[in-house]
Amino acid sequence: MTKDDSSPSDRITVRRMPDRASYDPDTVASILDEGLLAHVGLVAAEGPVVIPMIYGRDDQTLYLHGSPASRLLREGRDTQLCVTVSILDGLVVARSLMHHSMNYRSVVLMGRASLVEDFDEKSRALDLISDHVIPGRVAGTRPHLEKEVKGTLVLSMPLNEASSKVRTGQPIDDDEDYSLDTWAGVLPLGIAVGEPIPDPLLKDGISTPEHITQWSR
Ligand SMILES: Cc1cc2nc3c(=O)[nH]c(=O)nc-3n(C[C@H](O)[C@H](O)[C@H](O)COP(=O)(O)OP(=O)(O)OC[C@H]3O[C@@H](n4cnc5c(N)ncnc54)[C@H](O)[C@@H]3O)c2cc1C
Repeated sequence: MTKDDSSPSDRITVRRMPDRASYDPDTVASILDEGLLAHVGLVAAEGPVVIPMIYGRDDQTLYLHGSPASRLLREGRDTQLCVTVSILDGLVVARSLMHHSMNYRSVVLMGRASLVEDFDEKSRALDLISDHVIPGRVAGTRPHLEKEVKGTLVLSMPLNEASSKVRTGQPIDDDEDYSLDTWAGVLPLGIAVGEPIPDPLLKDGISTPEHITQWSR
């Protein structure tokens, strides 16, 4: 789906609980921007495989990167990939086990991945991936070396065929169960951030930068 096209393709149309679905590019982008980890699916020579990967986004393009030895990046170019990103917001605890659920925001993206060969686009994609994971990190480190960019594979995928699905709120129990003495509600979940652990090999006098101390999701 593009910004000009409001009808999703059949393969990304959510069937169950369609009221929780959105094909709005801004909703898709906001979930991708908050998520950290993608699961990238490919039908490889010997069958389907799903591999966890970091990613970055530039407007309507998703970038994946990795070693030239990565099978997914080698076989994933010029072929169809399916990428999912999920954010877990809470456990939904119902009065019956049947209606337990999770609050989440998720995206499923399908499309053809292309190898990024242009040096400048590749370099920018690598910056986007770094800043996606740790906003501000690119400004806080040295620029990529040419050999680093040349030695990394980058794939791009258009975001024009993507669905999002979001569940929020309390459990939805059967009417007769609301009179039970069973606790019900939501247990919110999020990413817990620990204390930064400086590298013992750090030069003296380097304090922890704000993009690390202030990191949050
Ligand atoms: C949080 C996270 C982020 C990552 N980000 C990236 C990234 O941005 N780029 C990147 O190239 N790699 C990333 N990886 C590593 C990635 O998941 C693969 O391990 C890597 O791409 C190497 O794949 P391969 O070609 O050696 O293996 P493949 O040939 O793709 O896989 C062969 C088999 O190895 C096993 N395997 C491969 N990877 C994993 C795994 N992660 N866990 C368990 N079994 C596995 C599977 O059984 C698979 O069928 C990430 C991993 C994690 C957990």
